[in-house]
Amino acid sequence: MRLTVLGRSPASPNPGEACAGYLVEGGGARALVDIGPGVVAQLLVRHHPDELDAVVVSHMHADHMLDLVTLRYVYPWRAQPRDRRLRVVMPPGSADQLLDLARGVGNARHFEDSFRLSEHDGSRPLTFGGLTMTPVETVHFIPCWGFRMEADGRRLSYTADTAPCGGLEDLAHDTDLLLSEATLRSLDEDAQPPEGRGHLLPAEAGEVARRAGARRLMLTHLPVEDGAVAAREAASSAFGGEAEVAEPDQTYEI
Ligand SMILES: [Zn+2]
Ligand SMILES: [Zn+2]
Repeated sequence: MRLTVLGRSPASPNPGEACAGYLVEGGGARALVDIGPGVVAQLLVRHHPDELDAVVVSHMHADHMLDLVTLRYVYPWRAQPRDRRLRVVMPPGSADQLLDLARGVGNARHFEDSFRLSEHDGSRPLTFGGLTMTPVETVHFIPCWGFRMEADGRRLSYTADTAPCGGLEDLAHDTDLLLSEATLRSLDEDAQPPEGRGHLLPAEAGEVARRAGARRLMLTHLPVEDGAVAAREAASSAFGGEAEVAEPDQTYEI
């Protein structure tokens, strides 16, 4: 199983880097998980979207899905037969927002004519060849699902966006690699009560990895102007092992 980081930026991009986008290969399949701004240009360095089995979106925040708009421009402006279209799996209940986005860019059929759109059901595994992706709901400002991915006897767990929550330990249980958001530098950056939290500190990502028995921890979706040194140190100390920081354009064997 292989993970390639196409983008690791939080919503406010790191200079020269794309927002959330991860290429996952295994079991004879290749899927793109999240497609934030800048991800399509990074994808095209390696693959035409026709070489993907699917694009899967964690939630409807712009930094995870806005480049669906760009992806459509890779295809000619005529409707493709449905069975030849790229499979795009959206979160449950997202159809109206996607239609609003399509209208906002000038064409209600912007996505429909080139993608085979569907929604997952929030819990049942998605299967692409020998790659399975099980959605696990997280706690975020809007509905969001991370994914537990399995192929070739290996496991990759992706938190998407999340506050600390019980689902994270399920997601990361016994995983070979936990790819965890670590957006916050301090709790002041998260939402304040009475609003619920929406993101993790690096130390909280490390804590989840330790409790869940994850073998590797990789931080992503974080600001990196200081080289992410403080984030890596805080996560490593809570994890009790060496935390890594996702590097753009790097491929990791899992
Ligand atoms: Zn989000
Ligand atoms: Zn995000």
